[in-house]
Amino acid sequence: MNIILLGPPGAGKGTQARILMERRGLVQLSTGDMLRAAVTAGTDVGRKAEAVMKAGGLVSDDIVIGVVGDRLDAPDVKAGVIFDGFPRTTPQAEALDGLLAEKGMTLDAVVNMVVDDAAMVGRISGRYTCANCGEGYHDVDKAPAVAGVCDKCGSTEFKRRKDDNAETVAARLKEYHAETAPLIAYYKATGKLRDVDGMAEIGEVTRQVEAALG
Ligand code: ADP
Ligand code: ADP
Ligand code: ZN
Repeated sequence: MNIILLGPPGAGKGTQARILMERRGLVQLSTGDMLRAAVTAGTDVGRKAEAVMKAGGLVSDDIVIGVVGDRLDAPDVKAGVIFDGFPRTTPQAEALDGLLAEKGMTLDAVVNMVVDDAAMVGRISGRYTCANCGEGYHDVDKAPAVAGVCDKCGSTEFKRRKDDNAETVAARLKEYHAETAPLIAYYKATGKLRDVDGMAEIGEVTRQVEAALG
């Protein structure tokens, strides 16, 4: 099964992707994570993407499509892919159609996480992750069971993204509405779009996602 999680920054795509990965054995393909890894590694892609990401803009379609195309050549994607944060523009969606056809893969569902913009500022400002295993947390909405200790791996090291601040959130939401929201109509036309209430608590969102996937 191959699915897309669609929604603005802070909608809960990464959170639900990790849960689906565990439950269904799917592979999470997060273009944000891949681009951040490229920046850290100082690759060509990373050097081109860094400033745009810091400002909350969108990295160019060519770069992102290239990264995804390469990733889909790895054998593990046969288990099924959760696209998290991709596609984000109409050219990216069209390129994905081509890539999937080329690799003999089909798209089963597009889960549209419906949220209030205003709440995304708080979601993103409070977001942090385990530095060891990547589990996502939130200052208010999802604290570890034992303060300062990762639920999943016991690590006491956490990190926050440089672009998770109030200034870039505004830019990122603007990009979402201008470039990404048109994909709702794009996928509605394919009959594969399923809305879920991204404002519900995390477990309830998971129940709705599971129901949408069947
Ligand atoms: P995205 O990948 O869409 O940007 P994340 O999954 O990283 O979003 O979630 C953003 C922040 O909001 C994280 O700190 C996460 O713990 C928290 N979060 C995710 N889903 C919910 C939810 N349904 N209710 C409240 N907080 C949530
Ligand atoms: P969020 O969790 O807030 O949705 P991501 O981790 O998906 O953010 O993306 C972080 C940044 O990486 C984006 O603001 C953008 O600069 C870049 N990026 C990630 N995916 C894409 C994409 N598909 N197209 C263009 N830029 C992207
Ligand atoms: Zn951890």
